[in-house]
This record gives sequence, C-alpha cells and structure tokens, in this order.
Amino acid sequence: MELIYRSTRNANETATASEAILKGLANEGGLFVPDFIPQLDVSLEELAKMDYREVAYRVMKLMFTDFTEEELRHCINSAYDEKFDTKEIAPLVKKAGAYYLELFHGSTIAFKDMALSILPYLLTTSAKKNNVKNEIVILTATSGDTGKAALAGFADVPGTKIIVFYPKNGVSPIQEKQMVTQKGDNTFVVGITGNFDDAQTGVKNMFSDVALGEYLAEHGYQFSSANSINIGRLIPQMAYYVFAYTRLVADGTIKAGDFINVVVPTGNFGNILAAFYAKQMGIPINKFICASNENKVLYDFFETGCYDRNREFVLTTSPSMDILISSNLERLIYRIAGNDAEKNKALMQALSGQGVYTITEEMKAGLADFYGNYATEAETAATIKKVYESDKYIMDTHTAVAASVYDKYVAATGDTLPTVIASTASPYKFTRSVMNAIDADYDKQSDFELVDELEKLSGVKIPQAIEDIRTAPVRHDTVCDKEDMLTVVKQFLGV
Ligand SMILES: *Cc1c(COP(=O)(O)O)cnc(C)c1O
Repeated sequence: MELIYRSTRNANETATASEAILKGLANEGGLFVPDFIPQLDVSLEELAKMDYREVAYRVMKLMFTDFTEEELRHCINSAYDEKFDTKEIAPLVKKAGAYYLELFHGSTIAFKDMALSILPYLLTTSAKKNNVKNEIVILTATSGDTGKAALAGFADVPGTKIIVFYPKNGVSPIQEKQMVTQKGDNTFVVGITGNFDDAQTGVKNMFSDVALGEYLAEHGYQFSSANSINIGRLIPQMAYYVFAYTRLVADGTIKAGDFINVVVPTGNFGNILAAFYAKQMGIPINKFICASNENKVLYDFFETGCYDRNREFVLTTSPSMDILISSNLERLIYRIAGNDAEKNKALMQALSGQGVYTITEEMKAGLADFYGNYATEAETAATIKKVYESDKYIMDTHTAVAASVYDKYVAATGDTLPTVIASTASPYKFTRSVMNAIDADYDKQSDFELVDELEKLSGVKIPQAIEDIRTAPVRHDTVCDKEDMLTVVKQFLGV
C-alpha cells in the first residue's frame, strides 16, 4: 500500500515520499508527515541477525513506498559504505552503565552523516522518478554539523548545488574550518551575523516565497532542503534505533519485546522524533529522554505545556543544540493535536507571531512517553570528566548533555531499564571544550595540539575528517547580514 505524506498545516496537501523529499518543506511552512507508520514486517529476532544496511532497508521500504527495491538498495549501499570508519556503521558500546550508540563514524564525524550520506541519493533518485529537469538547489541552515555533512554529501553531485548558512560566531573552530575548506564547484558556504534561529528563519522564508520559487523555475532551478525538516533525513534516522535495539537482543542484554529507554541530546527535535517513529514501527521504547543544554525551551515545554522562545539565546559548548525553535517538534504537536492541521497551524502562527503557544491538557497527555530535562555547562563538563575517569571513555559535549540528563532521570525515577544514549558527535569535533572539561590547563594549547593530546588520552585514532582540515586551504569566506541571505543566494546562482 502506498504511504502518503501530508502537510502539518493543510490536510489537503499530500505528496508521495519522493515528492516530499524533493520539496523538503510543504507549502505555507508546513512539514510533511506520514499518514501512518507501518509495522515492521520482520521479527525483532530476525532483525537482530541483519547488518546495518539490511536493517535500514527493512525500515525505509516501509516508509518510502514509491521507491523500488532496486532504487532503495542502491541508495542504502551507496551511503553506508567505506565512508564510515567501521563496518558496524553505528556501534553500540557499553560504558558507565549505559549503551552509547556511536552515530559519528561517518565522513564528517557527527550523527548528521547517518542521514546526509543517503539524502543526495534519495534526492537524485526522486528527481529522476518525477522527471524533474531543474537543477536542485539545497538551501541549508546549520548550527554547525548539518552544514558540513550536507556539503560532503552533495559536493559535486550532478544536477545539484548546495548553499549553507551558519552563524558566524556560533560554531566551534573545528566545525567552521570543516565547512569553509569544503571542496566542490557546486558548494557555497556563508557565515551570517545572527544565530542559528535567524539562519533557519531566513531559509524557511525563502522556501515559502512563492514568487521566488516561480522566478527560480524560470531560470531552471528549484529549492530543496537538507535540514531535518526533510523526511529524507528523518526517516533514515529511524533505522539506527531499530539497529540499536536489535543489537541488544543479539547480545542477550534483552529479550525481543523488552522495553528500553532512549536518551537524545536535542536541538531541532529530528533525532528524538525518529526514535518516536521507531517505537510506532514496533520497537519497544519506554521513555524518550529529551536532553537540552542551557537553551532549555524543550524542558520548559515538557514541564508546563507552554513553548516560549522569548528568552535569551545562550551560546554553549554544545552549539549544535543552541536552538530556540525546534522545527521538528511541529510534527509531534500535529500528532498530539489529533492530526489536526488547523489546530497545529494556529499554534505555529502563534509561535512565529508572539513567539509562544500553549497546548491543551488533552494534548499534554499525548506526551506521556517523553521526559525532558537539561544540563548546565558545569554539569556537562563534569560528566565528561567523570566518565573519562571511570571508564577512560571520552565523549563529546552534546553526548555529555545527554549523559548528565540521563543521570538526573535515574535519580528522579529509579528506572533501571537498559538505556541507549544517542552519541551524536566525535569528541574530536569539539576538542577544546572536551579537553577543558578534563583539565582547564589544556586551554593554553592550540586546537591541533589539543587534537594530539586527545588522541593520547582516549587511545582513539584521530579521524580522517580532522587530518583533512589540518592543512586544507579556506575556500569560502562570504559573510552577510541575516537580512541579505536572499541577495547572496541570487548572486551565487547568477539570477
Ligand atoms: C544536530 C545535532 C544535535 C541535535 O539533533 P536534532 O536532531 O537537531 O535534535 C545534537 N548533537 C549534535 C552533535 C548535532 O550535530
């Protein structure tokens, strides 16, 4: 049966999977959501015997029903290959009382690679299926990791161009270096004088600009998105939760059907939403533990039912989570509103107008599976140091936010179910913050000296992604005001 995707803001706007991937965003700022989530059609025990690619295929074929088996396997096999530095693709490692699902073994060493290494294949396949002749322009706002992962995925992919906007003063030095050294004639990287929310809003505005869309089409272009608002990113992320659960079955930690918890360091709410979708597909997950840093808008929302972005934006050592407008939360709001596009639209309009909305008690009941909490900067650093000292395991700052929140969850509930922590970045991507957490004296050293020190402490080889940027020349140095994003796009496209 064909699975249809529908806009969260207009019940009459529907798309097939490939159409939704091509468009990225629905009209009027809506997001595409599946009409329902199909059940896994193989048992958890059988999945436990499959490798990452096969698990990914079993999940994605249920969600991308208009792709043929050949198309989908081509996308999966092209994505999850030697670009990953381990055959397992997403290893699950037991440390300090939890299971860390290491999602950072791809080419840009953050979990964004899990979806962005497949998105270019899904997108070009979708273009072919729908006879699209325009060149596809990927517009992306990044809090640091999406940008590089999308650039790496789309560099020199025929029929595409990619433009990435990042907050000039809101990413780590290594994140910035990774982006501005990106090769590929179809790539374009721009720093904006603003924060991530400004970049994301600017991109969303260009998407919703109907006249702009027509103007681009006249010049042979159309926009698509590599942000997690694109289902071509969200759906591939479901696969690693199915993979993680079934690894625990495979090694005898749990029996098929037993419940686990999942902890996700959250920013735009894409990763945790993929876990939520995986549960509906048949993975027994008890709690979705939503971990925030000091930008704790989600924690406050889970506590009170009121989403309020009117607050100070804090720059933290986990910059990929420095977000006050978590776009993918809209998909959950739509669902707990009873899949009611009108209700959802009213709330989202309140958010873009007054910056705040409050859900009803009835809707709040739909959030029972979620637990939200946050970690301060000091708690995050203390967790890195603690787990290093107990287990010689060094995690990055985002993962440390999740680990701190997990400690709070256990203290508050006494729940000791086996728990998977989504480990979203390599510590090498945030070397300075990680090393400072272990010993403040490290701050005196240069970024690359710290990289070498981290290798000594952790015993984990320096990833190729870091070696690549040691000497790479800067290829992108455009900076613009947040008001000038459209001008810059037009210049780059020559229209
Ligand atoms: C993007 C990112 C996050 C947040 O993920 P969302 O899907 O946006 O919630 C967390 N950690 C790292 C390292 C990231 O790159």
